[in-house]
Amino acid sequence: MQNMVILGATGSIGASTLAVIATNAAAYRVYGLVANSSVAKMLELCVVHQPVYAHMVDETAANALKDALPSDCVTKVTTGEEALLELVTRAETQVVMAAIVGAAGLVPTLAAVNAGKRVLLANKEALVMSGQLFINAARASGAVVLPVDSEHNAIFQCLPSQVQQSLGYCNLDDHGISHILLTGSGGPFLTKPIAELASVTPAQACKHPNWSMGPKISVDSATMMNKGLEYIEARWLFNTRQNQLKVVVHPQSVIHSMVQYRDGSVIAQMGNPDMRTPIANCMAYPHRIDAGVEPLDFFKVGQLSFVEPDYDRFPCLALAIEACHLGQEATTVVNAANEMAVAAFLAGQISFTDIAKINEASLKRLHSGKLNTLEDILALDKQARIYAHEAINQ
Ligand code: NAD
Ligand code: MG
Repeated sequence: MQNMVILGATGSIGASTLAVIATNAAAYRVYGLVANSSVAKMLELCVVHQPVYAHMVDETAANALKDALPSDCVTKVTTGEEALLELVTRAETQVVMAAIVGAAGLVPTLAAVNAGKRVLLANKEALVMSGQLFINAARASGAVVLPVDSEHNAIFQCLPSQVQQSLGYCNLDDHGISHILLTGSGGPFLTKPIAELASVTPAQACKHPNWSMGPKISVDSATMMNKGLEYIEARWLFNTRQNQLKVVVHPQSVIHSMVQYRDGSVIAQMGNPDMRTPIANCMAYPHRIDAGVEPLDFFKVGQLSFVEPDYDRFPCLALAIEACHLGQEATTVVNAANEMAVAAFLAGQISFTDIAKINEASLKRLHSGKLNTLEDILALDKQARIYAHEAINQ
């Protein structure tokens, strides 16, 4: 029986994780649930899963949850950063699902890594921001970090076990690997006339053709910034050089990514687009458990197609790749600016095509500096949000 803490329990990944736990109830126990402010959703989860702890980042929400919990519910409600870090690092916590959206996930995720936990990493923004610091922390503590992001999980599954066990500092050349092929669907606007993109609505941007996800990552998928963040995420997880990582647009989302070997072999991982598969893979690795996912039916799939990414259509993808090669300061700035820009787009303050402009304007204002500590990273994140805020209000 493994005790799991789910950061971002009320979100889309949180729901998929709880579904996999329910399918494998004899092996996993919901020990702690963490969310920002959705009281009604958290109340429902507490009643069903009876976690030992429910943590709400928002204090008012924590108080409301305390009042609403039925008297026979065993759950203790907590709030405040100290209590969150204590929950993530306590001895009883064995597995941490890191599925808070955005930069807010960095501190608790890194705390789990530093505490040497088994960390199932969905929160790509945390790795994009902290890069080398995150990898070094995992190496120092012995934390097992497993990639939940479907592409990275696919790549992980296509790699030899020695590479799987040395994520972050593996040498792909030593294992005959020539390229990592990161696939992406291209999102809802892959074929929409570029001239019409300026007027698309948040509802249209959030309507992904293949995946059901939270609003931020859905918008990121529509701009392909998501693939850009994933490119940076892959750079750190698989320790790739610039020419080892390629983006391939594959609209059907059946292949979730591939690894190309020196001898001409390409190994792909396939499945229905359902996050319960990579989540179950990370939970059980190196074993396999039932994820509750429909088996892939190739006769229904019919055709698989592939095209090169169009960087004119997806300037955010080009910018993220550029930032990746500039270095960690640049990726931290782009990540923070993008989070602000996406929130402004969802709030109706800016247009869809403004997202890329705000990200680019923020990156242009980057001064070189060094990111040695978590504090340095958080300070740069804050500074980039000021740049983005100014660009949004212009
Ligand atoms: P979501 O919007 O559905 O859920 C976000 C969760 O984070 C909620 O539980 C919310 O309460 C919590 N949260 C938000 N702000 C917080 C804060 N300040 N402090 C603490 N908790 C906070 O998002 P999602 O789609 O589940 O995505 C979560 C993460 O997983 C993202 O980083 C995303 O990129 C990644 N991811 C998601 C998918 C997917 O299919 N949804 C796939 C791959 C990766
Ligand atoms: Mg992904």
